[in-house]
Amino acid sequence: MKPGVNTSRRDFIRNGSIMAGALVISPALLAAAGASPVKKLGIALVGLGGYGGGQLAPALQQTQNCYLAGIVTGTPSKAEEWSKKYNIPQKNIYNYQNFDEIAKNPDIDIVYVVLPVSMHKEYTIRAARAGKHVICEKPMALNAADCREMIAACKKANRLLSIGYRLHFEPHNMEAMRLGQKNVLGKVTVIDTGNGFVYTGDPNAWRLKKALAGGGGLMDMGIYAIQAARYTLGQEPIAVKATQEKTKPELFKEVDETVFWELKFPGGQKVTGKSSYNNNWGYLRVTTEKGKFDIEPAYGYDGIDGHINGKPMNLPNINQQAAQMDDFATCVRLNKTSRVPGEEGEKDMKVIDAIYRSLDSGKWEKIG
Ligand code: NAD
Repeated sequence: MKPGVNTSRRDFIRNGSIMAGALVISPALLAAAGASPVKKLGIALVGLGGYGGGQLAPALQQTQNCYLAGIVTGTPSKAEEWSKKYNIPQKNIYNYQNFDEIAKNPDIDIVYVVLPVSMHKEYTIRAARAGKHVICEKPMALNAADCREMIAACKKANRLLSIGYRLHFEPHNMEAMRLGQKNVLGKVTVIDTGNGFVYTGDPNAWRLKKALAGGGGLMDMGIYAIQAARYTLGQEPIAVKATQEKTKPELFKEVDETVFWELKFPGGQKVTGKSSYNNNWGYLRVTTEKGKFDIEPAYGYDGIDGHINGKPMNLPNINQQAAQMDDFATCVRLNKTSRVPGEEGEKDMKVIDAIYRSLDSGKWEKIG
């Protein structure tokens, strides 16, 4: 556990009036409020790759309302390694063939799908049918129609569905929501946002295969920039026009490299965005009637920094994944819709679907 993380979490809670929504309700508080029985809910991670292993499993060592109870993996050596490292009993370890047997396991309350995008729909639906609540990673699915099927399956099974949108629990991004949605500096007039990194990984990875990833930098990184515009305004865009650039066609044979877009919102604000697998971007810049605010870097796991009219926001960096999973565990306990439900994932995918249509048509495309 990083000492800095604890300190900043404590400061965050002390500071916290504007961000009361980010506070996690501890089992002790719930017990005091008469909500019982209080136990940490069990999460099973499906997919033990970079994000599951590098971020979510460590975050689950810091959570108060949930813990790493099980894993689903196709690799026996990983099962053994994780079992030892995180003290996971054999009875809570599944593979992709026997996954549905998880239905009979009372230790698992929540299944967290951390697989390539093309597999999100199948595993979300199978988890809900097995009677488990579900967190599904972003982007929620290959397209908005698949998102709707996932939402319907979870509703039918009477299970809660949430998307791994950690930034909705991140103090600087929450401050952007407050400033923009409440017109704190007057109405927002202009938003410019971008997100991307220079891809230097395996040229054969799933991220570069259209069938597995759905798309490239737009699906993977642009989704943060799109939702930042949506949550800064608290409105839904109605149309989009997009263009793209490809400087490495051999690497990005199947998926987009760099995409630029302009979004039309009902309030007429000027909103531009861009995504890339070939540029290091990560910012949100907002102009309002009476000032400006920005977050840069805006979308990483740590090191997020923001300014209001040039002065520092002075907000802490927290473990976003721990806050996100603790909040969902509380939602499950209280049977309350998450602040990032499946519908939120569907809204971003509607915008992404329209961006791809615009790249094909060269014209403005309606969203939804
Ligand atoms: P990864 O490639 O590192 O891991 C993918 C996992 O899926 C691996 O364990 C792999 O073994 C497993 N897998 C099962 N079937 C597979 C198949 N047919 N092909 C490839 N892998 C298969 O990917 P990742 O970076 O961990 O991403 C997983 C998901 O998490 C994606 O949806 C991604 O967008 C999301 N993600 C979210 C964040 C975030 O900040 N919220 C960050 C990184 C990744």
